[in-house]
Amino acid sequence: MAAWKSVGNGTLEGISSVPDLDASKLTITLANSLKPVPAPEQLVFGSVTTDHMLVVSFDPSTGWSAPEIKPYAPLSLDPMSSCFQYCTNIFEGMKAYIGPDGKARLFRPEKNMARLARSAERCALPPFNQDAVLTLIKRLVSVEKRWIPALEGYSLYIRPTIIGTRAALGVAASDHALLYIIVTPAGSFFKQAPAKPISLLAVSNSVRAWPGGTGGHKLGLNYAPGFLPQRVAVKQGYDQILWILGDVVTEAGVMNVFVAIKREEGDGVDVVTPELDGTILPGVTRMSVLELLQKEGTSAVERKVTITELKALSAQGRLLEVFLVGTAVLVASVGRIGLEGGEGDLVLPGPSPVAAAMKKRLLDIQQGREEYENWSVVCDDD
Ligand SMILES: *Cc1c(COP(=O)(O)O)cnc(C)c1O
Repeated sequence: MAAWKSVGNGTLEGISSVPDLDASKLTITLANSLKPVPAPEQLVFGSVTTDHMLVVSFDPSTGWSAPEIKPYAPLSLDPMSSCFQYCTNIFEGMKAYIGPDGKARLFRPEKNMARLARSAERCALPPFNQDAVLTLIKRLVSVEKRWIPALEGYSLYIRPTIIGTRAALGVAASDHALLYIIVTPAGSFFKQAPAKPISLLAVSNSVRAWPGGTGGHKLGLNYAPGFLPQRVAVKQGYDQILWILGDVVTEAGVMNVFVAIKREEGDGVDVVTPELDGTILPGVTRMSVLELLQKEGTSAVERKVTITELKALSAQGRLLEVFLVGTAVLVASVGRIGLEGGEGDLVLPGPSPVAAAMKKRLLDIQQGREEYENWSVVCDDD
C-alpha cells in the first residue's frame, strides 16, 4: 500500500509523507532544433506535435519527482504498466488563446485542475497539488507560445494526462503514475465551415454513461466504447451521436447539450441543459454558458431532458435551438436530429441566436477582449 492519502484539495498528506508535486523544482531542457509550424488553415485537430512536453512521475516511496519540460519524444514504459492493462488513464482538455495584446491566456484553468484531481481520485491514482500543475501548464504554454496561431478561433489545445505505471498484472490500483502534458495547435474542431449546423443521430441501444458509472469523470476508458457507434452514425450520414439513456438525453459525442425552448405563452425563451446526475461530464464550457445566461437574466436551468419532450416541443414549434458545447468545439449548433425506429429527422428551425451569442461572448472572454470574473488567466506574466 502506498503511504499517502488524499486530503480535501488534492494535495498529499502522508502518514509517512512523501514529497508532493513542486513546481519550483522544474527543469527546462530546450530542443536543439525547432520544428516548422504548419499554416493554420492546414491544421487537423490534435495531429500536430510541438517541440516540448512536460513530464513528472510518482513513486510511492519517493513521491512526485522534479518536473521536467523537455523535447517532445516517445515515452518508454514497461508493457505490464497498469494503463495498458486496466485503463488507469485520465486526462483534461484545455486551450490557450492569444489575445489582441499578444498574451497567451487560459480559460478557468482551476476548474480543469479540480476535475483532473477528481478523475485521479476516481481511478485511485495518486493525488497532486493542483496549483503546482497549473503553474507547470503556464510555463509549458509560454515555452510553446510560437505554436499558438494568432487568429480568431485558433488556440493551443492542452492535454494534461495521468497514467498508471505500476508494472504488475495483479488487478489493483496503480501506486506508480506518470503525469505528462502535451500541447497541439488547434483550429476549428469540425472541418466544415463553423457556420454549418451539425447533425446528430439519437442512439439508445449503446450507452456512453450510466447511473453509478464513470461518465461524470474524464477517464480514458469512457471513450473507446463510443468509437463503433460513432462510425455507424457517420455511415448513416450524421456528424455525431446524441446519447440517449432510456428516454433521457445525456450528451452528444463528447459535448454537453443545451436546448432553447419557446415558452407556451409569449415570446420568452427557456434554456435547459441535462442536470449533473453522474452520467454527464461536468463541462467547464457548460458551467460557463449557464453562468453567463443566468447573469444576463436569461432563464437557464439544469434539469432532465427527454427525447420524447424534444419531439413534442418540435411538433408544437417550440424547439428553437439545440446546441453543443465543450472546449474543443466551443459552441456548435445542431441542424437536425435523426430519430430511432425510422421516425425520420427532427429538424431545427435555425438560426441559433442563443448559441451564436454564447460563442461570441466566450471567445471575447477567452481571447482577452472582455474581462469577466477573472475567467481568463494570463500565462506569461513573468
Ligand atoms: C471534456 C468533455 C466535455 C466538455 O467539457 P469542457 O470542460 O467544456 O471541455 C463534455 N462531455 C464529455 C464527455 C467530455 O469528455
